[in-house]
Amino acid sequence: MDIGQGQPHRVLELWFEDANVIFQAESSLFRVHKGILQARSSVFRDMFAIPQTSTPLDSDLMDGCIVTQLPDAAEDIRCFFLAIGYDASFFEPPPTPTPLSVVLAIARMSHKYDVPFLRRRALSHLSHRCPTTLRDFFTVHVEGKNSFLGEEFEVLRAALKIDPSWVLPYQFLITHFTELETLLATQQWKDLEVEIQAMCHVKWRCIESHSRRCIAQLLSKLLSDLCATCAALSVQIQRAAVGCLSEDIPMFLSPGIIKGTTGCCPECLLGTYKTFADAYGSFWDALPETLGMPRWDILETKKSEDTEPIALWLKNTRWVVRVSTSYK
Ligand SMILES: [Zn+2]
Repeated sequence: MDIGQGQPHRVLELWFEDANVIFQAESSLFRVHKGILQARSSVFRDMFAIPQTSTPLDSDLMDGCIVTQLPDAAEDIRCFFLAIGYDASFFEPPPTPTPLSVVLAIARMSHKYDVPFLRRRALSHLSHRCPTTLRDFFTVHVEGKNSFLGEEFEVLRAALKIDPSWVLPYQFLITHFTELETLLATQQWKDLEVEIQAMCHVKWRCIESHSRRCIAQLLSKLLSDLCATCAALSVQIQRAAVGCLSEDIPMFLSPGIIKGTTGCCPECLLGTYKTFADAYGSFWDALPETLGMPRWDILETKKSEDTEPIALWLKNTRWVVRVSTSYK
């Protein structure tokens, strides 16, 4: 029996002597119960329904079971089988903290093998990481983030494969937190598939144009709203804004313009806060369409279909997500 490269070994936590099917992923062997997989996955159900056309050779058997090769990563299959019914505590719904690698493995496998309850659970975990409202966006960032570009690209890669479109605007936005030149020089970028690189590059530029448009509108509004006394600060404000633009810093992270307004009278200062809030709102509201995607309300509907009902009330609770603004 040719069972691929590497010395095949049994994964003991997923090897049951009374079980009736053996799967091999990479060099890992899993002996599990056909009935459990059939009950939860339409893909396995269809796979097992295909009648055996010939008697298997002894060389194709292990302990009397046919060994079926799976093209997936062994770790993905391990997480998937544990979550599908072999360890009830392995993949709890949010807010139970769960490693991102486990969430993504189960998201990929549950989508591929059609296990809706696991897909919903995995996407519920992702939903807290990928905000779809401006309020959640600020919550995510105010909590202080510590993630890595490689992780963000892993989420993006998985999202493109399993199609929860509501994940994408935030994932593209987060790549824009790094200057393009720096981004292209990272190893994480070089490790991306060429087609994902091309897509990210285009989206980065879309966000850049959108960001510049919003900053220009913000600046024009700020200057036109100043009282006669504060109008003397307009050069200072303009200089701060131009500085932000030339540094390629996205609007959300541009304290420079705010600094330019610190000498304003209380009324104008209050006005600038409102102008900033409106500008953030405009930036966020138009973000999906800027990226060539459906509007937020359509994405939000899709998100509620994709996630567990529990995610709806958790949405309104305080949620700690690790966010970083620098990958340098
Ligand atoms: Zn004033």
